[in-house]
Amino acid sequence: MPDVILETRDLTKEFKGFTAVNQVSLQVQRGHIHALIGPNGAGKTTCFNLLTKFLSPSAGRILFNGTDITSLKPAQIARMGIIRSFQISAVFPHLTVLENVRVGLQRALGTSFHFWRSEKTLNQLDDRAMALLAEVDLEQFADTITADLPYGRKRALEIATTLGMEPELMLLDEPTQGMGHEDVHRVTALIKKVASGRTILMVEHNMNVVSGICDRISVLQRGAVLAEGSYADVSRNPQVIEAYMGS
Ligand code: ADP
Repeated sequence: MPDVILETRDLTKEFKGFTAVNQVSLQVQRGHIHALIGPNGAGKTTCFNLLTKFLSPSAGRILFNGTDITSLKPAQIARMGIIRSFQISAVFPHLTVLENVRVGLQRALGTSFHFWRSEKTLNQLDDRAMALLAEVDLEQFADTITADLPYGRKRALEIATTLGMEPELMLLDEPTQGMGHEDVHRVTALIKKVASGRTILMVEHNMNVVSGICDRISVLQRGAVLAEGSYADVSRNPQVIEAYMGS
């Protein structure tokens, strides 16, 4: 397996003449937590949408484990192992926490119908779902209706369902957005924990989050990569400081 799990080469997206992502070349190393940061409107979300093929690039290439995936469809990209943790709306609010993880596992197995599955298979699914809940410290909420789960815990559930799809590369979309200090702390620790043996690319606004856990940071500004390196490198970069002060 190559050390570089994901690479973009001159990735570009234009919306009616406006260049939202401008020749972005990134390299995500296997086993890293890599953050994409930048002021509002820098192109971070558009980048994620290009990586998952929710949007098609205007130019440039995307390589996953050295294979060109630029022309693949979203479902094919997910099957290759690039899984984006969706906003909580993708979780069913009326199901329990355990049921939601199980539904995610069933989807990963390629079916949401379980009536023809053997009891043994269903028990195995439950065991796997409980193990995932334990991994994200949600065991005690297994029987809680998801709508009643505290906000910060919903993000943990989302991470559990994503892990159930056994991502080779996990994309996290602003995992601490809208959270108070305590939840930010908990989710940050959780990301660090689940990152062990995995690769994560995350979009994040909160500098405290990226400083504590990210191996590498790419800073976007006006669609282009402004700086790249460790937190210590980019946080000292005068252009990065100016971009953030000016935003
Ligand atoms: P970020 O996630 O860094 O805040 P975005 O990727 O959401 O930035 O947006 C980058 C720029 O592209 C913004 O100026 C935004 O207005 C523009 N943009 C994003 N999506 C579209 C679209 N579908 N049509 C036109 N402009 C868009």
